Amino acid sequence: MQLNSLGFPRIGRRRELKFALEKYWRGESSVAELESVARELRRTHWQWQADAGVAQLPVGDFAYYDQVLTLSATLGVIPERHRDGGAVNLDTLFRIARGRAPSGKHAPASEMTKYFNTNYHYLVPELSEDQRFDIAWEQLFEEVTEAQALGHTAKPVLLGPVTFLYLSKTVGSEFDRLTLLPALLECYQAILARFAAQGVEWVQLDEPALALELDDNWQQAFNQAYGVLKSAPLKLLLATYYGTVAHHQSLLSALPVAGIHLDLVTAPEQLQAFVGALAPEQVLSVGVINGRNVWAADLDLVAEQLAPLARDLGDRLWLATSCSLLHTPVDLEVETALAPELKSLLAFARQKLTELQELKALLEAPETENAKAVVARCRDRRAARAQGRNQQLSARIDALSATDYNRNHEFEVRRQAQQARFKLPLLPTTTIGSFPQTAAIRNLRSRWRKGELDDAVYTEQLQQVTRDTIERQLKLGIDVLVHGEAERNDMVEYFGEQLDGVGFTKHGWVQSYGSRCVKPPLIYADVTRPKAMTVDWAEYAQSLTDRPVKGMLTGPVTILHWSFAREDISREQIATQLALAIRDEVVALERAGIGIIQIDEPAFREGLPLKRSDWAHYLDWAVAAFKLSAAGVRDETQIHTHMCYSEFNDTIAAIAAMDADVITIETSRSRMELLNAFEDFDYPNEIGPGVYDIHSPNIPTVEAMVSLIEKAAQKIPVRQLWVNPDCGLKTRNWEEVEPALKNMVDATRELRRRLG
Ligand code: GLN
Ligand code: ZN
Repeated sequence: MQLNSLGFPRIGRRRELKFALEKYWRGESSVAELESVARELRRTHWQWQADAGVAQLPVGDFAYYDQVLTLSATLGVIPERHRDGGAVNLDTLFRIARGRAPSGKHAPASEMTKYFNTNYHYLVPELSEDQRFDIAWEQLFEEVTEAQALGHTAKPVLLGPVTFLYLSKTVGSEFDRLTLLPALLECYQAILARFAAQGVEWVQLDEPALALELDDNWQQAFNQAYGVLKSAPLKLLLATYYGTVAHHQSLLSALPVAGIHLDLVTAPEQLQAFVGALAPEQVLSVGVINGRNVWAADLDLVAEQLAPLARDLGDRLWLATSCSLLHTPVDLEVETALAPELKSLLAFARQKLTELQELKALLEAPETENAKAVVARCRDRRAARAQGRNQQLSARIDALSATDYNRNHEFEVRRQAQQARFKLPLLPTTTIGSFPQTAAIRNLRSRWRKGELDDAVYTEQLQQVTRDTIERQLKLGIDVLVHGEAERNDMVEYFGEQLDGVGFTKHGWVQSYGSRCVKPPLIYADVTRPKAMTVDWAEYAQSLTDRPVKGMLTGPVTILHWSFAREDISREQIATQLALAIRDEVVALERAGIGIIQIDEPAFREGLPLKRSDWAHYLDWAVAAFKLSAAGVRDETQIHTHMCYSEFNDTIAAIAAMDADVITIETSRSRMELLNAFEDFDYPNEIGPGVYDIHSPNIPTVEAMVSLIEKAAQKIPVRQLWVNPDCGLKTRNWEEVEPALKNMVDATRELRRRLG
């Protein structure tokens, strides 16, 4: 039975690639130095996989920036503006990715967007109507040679042709991307022929687009593509992941490929449909070790499920990670400070390979001491988990009823109570929460974390920042103030650190894009809130002024999406636990006299499943979690939420069902166009469409904002409108923020005058 690794993280267990890249970009190292770090990383990662018993090692999972970009370069898909006449080289890639590189002229970077439903971002290939495809970069072939020179068997891994086209965008004219498929297939054939000439036996072609609902043309494209590629003189493993592909079962089973990979972690139920339809020689790679999470697997249970299949298929069954390990941190071994009870629950990329090896032992030699020890360990872990469940919390959740999810009265009643309490003017002004995180603030926090500042001094200094922030807002004449979030670095981390059941690693970094990594919190047990998390800051800020200061919280759905969440209970259940923790904080804020509370849900949309038909279920529980977090307050307490993206057409009913008194959203770049969704739907509550693009250092003029507010007022009754920036201001500096907000307030006053 072969072990199959679909890909390994490239960033390095100490983020070596990140640092080498950034050094190179700063002009502080040579291409040769960068390449040598990269070579060393590949060597190490291959060795780890080989040590774990993986016979065919993925090649092409490494990328200097992004594997989709590597493929684009290989295929010669280089936007005109990023060429410089010479051959494609690393700087060409960096110009595409970042708009600039140590050599060549600057040009706007290509668009970057999320890779399916992950937090990984890829560079969108740009295809023109007369696009040609020619092998233009040798990196992939060189890496094959490199692996072979180290004594490994190389299994090149690249995105399949249909998904490549699917993820691309057209430039120049509008045309059907599928018209490019024949030319693209010729280039794929050339690539496969090169691999074959290098002595490669298996190539893995990733086609995650199969997890989506595809129209007939795209389905047909798979027949066409693999009908052509079957003539390649090597074996193709068609890999699907991130979701079930059962809806394409007959299509997929009929493709002339030597093997199929299924993600059985996200969709275990699809196995049966495919097993029956396997061709006589075909290999089935079963993705049973989660490539997108950090938890140790229940290997004994997995082995139990796979045992009959292992008997039937023999060596045609490959044991695999569900998808590339790109989405997991690299190595648990470097986490020396982690609490043992948390560490025992974890498996990072390297450990997941060991799990594959252990799983194989469970299937092939279940009677050995080794195998028995693995089973015992899995059982112990489950028992500890069960014991760790918080009975009180379970009872509280069981006792929830509809009233806990709904405010006491409908919006119109609340609106009147809130108007009587706050007496806000027409077009109230506010901001989204954070104010500039200055170097002084960051410095303060890092000294406090290192123990160089004690709590009292740290608090006192941050209070001073808060006081300054409040004074500035008062001087600007803003109506609803914020305390500025100076005490928060990353908002999810801020709440995570104060909640029980949430843990943090030191090196658990995962690549988000290029050299950028994130270190998500680990939700490993039942989540509870041992004590107030924000009340002191809010109370302090409110004590400085008679104007309302918004309490500022991160919502349950966002905390969930931006964390690694346990898998022994459902995401819906975790969201409920988080919602109760936030709800308790909301109620505590209300009790402390905070009249307006914002619960941010910027990641709300990210959780949407790949398949539309699954959306309704997700939206149901996500909306419920938000409502549960918000509904514990009196009518006259005003609940805000904030979401910072610009797609609402397809989810507007759910957004409305959240029943926040006020929602603030990002709209300035779309020139208020995305308000159409709210207009067409007749959105009932109040809304603050952003009028200040905070992603740009530019200071918006009064006229520009007047015109945006006027546009908004054409779509939404002015009585429902608020005026605010697109998002938080923590990445900007005061020199930009102060004049921009002054203009925002002036624009609002101008309109109040005009509108009476
Ligand atoms: N309140 C947060 C802030 O202002 C919201 C951040 C976000 O939407 N991502 O920073
Ligand atoms: Zn935002």
